[in-house]
Amino acid sequence: MAPASTQRRFGPPLVIAHRGACGYLPEHTFAAKAYAHALGADCLEQDVVLTRDDVPIVFHDLILEEVTDVAARFPGRARADGHYYAIDFGYAELTTLAVHDRIEAGGAAAWPLRFGERLPFRIHSLAEELTLVRGLNRATGRRVGVYTEVKSPAWHRAEGKDLAPRVLGVLAEFGYRTAEDACWLQCFDAAELGRIRFELGSALKLVQLIGENSWAEAATDYDAIRTPAGLAAVARYAAGIGPWIPQVVSWQATGAPPVASSLVADAHATGLAVHAYTFRIDQLPEHSGDAASAHRALFDVAHIDGLFSDFPDVTLSLLGRR
Ligand code: CA
Repeated sequence: MAPASTQRRFGPPLVIAHRGACGYLPEHTFAAKAYAHALGADCLEQDVVLTRDDVPIVFHDLILEEVTDVAARFPGRARADGHYYAIDFGYAELTTLAVHDRIEAGGAAAWPLRFGERLPFRIHSLAEELTLVRGLNRATGRRVGVYTEVKSPAWHRAEGKDLAPRVLGVLAEFGYRTAEDACWLQCFDAAELGRIRFELGSALKLVQLIGENSWAEAATDYDAIRTPAGLAAVARYAAGIGPWIPQVVSWQATGAPPVASSLVADAHATGLAVHAYTFRIDQLPEHSGDAASAHRALFDVAHIDGLFSDFPDVTLSLLGRR
């Protein structure tokens, strides 16, 4: 039995549909979002970047070519580094692109067992996605939440754009303003989250995403954040943390029981919820065996409070909710 301090403190685990039900349909499309809503996810995730004309769009990457046909539609619009940046296109142009499952640089499917078909899926704005959620919630009588990420705010600022106020503005238009609203706001950038809380005055539930310093996601020292002192500092502005799965539990090549790190217990001790990323049945954590044993370790050994899942139905089922 784990010590009390490591027990989950925030009610039933939150199942977050990562980029929608992107295990089944191309990420961040209306189809993937509607499907995730129908599968029973608690929250739908939005990654948000800005267009040239300052429209917040629901899109994971700063660049377009890994999930759209931009190279064929707009040849010559790449930067010198060969990439097609969303921020170099107007919203009207972006809505003409066809969105598909993620491909790697050579053109191979990143996830060969997924949808894999080409259809005229489109990029949409954050406002349109929140409209979709509002309508689906109205039609089903459910209260599925949103889980919105401010992507690379420092990069946007270097491009002359301020992303966070625009995201907050759209969320507020749809009634997401307070900690009681069905909305979590996530970011890898600790300075930006502090700004969102203390300068921009947001009362939303904020989540500090935690990467590895080697990824260079933000000028944030994740090794420092993962210490008790670092977590105490995070707790001054955030309601939760979003760590990478290997930061909370590790599975053993020997088949010995999985081992939880101290991160969840330390976070809970400061009052922070822990929502880990990302569960994929086609890329299980190393040595975790199968989806069921992976979930047992995450929820029953590490005691996380929520999980970003590409397959929300699998996560719900393993939590006994489907
Ligand atoms: Ca995200």
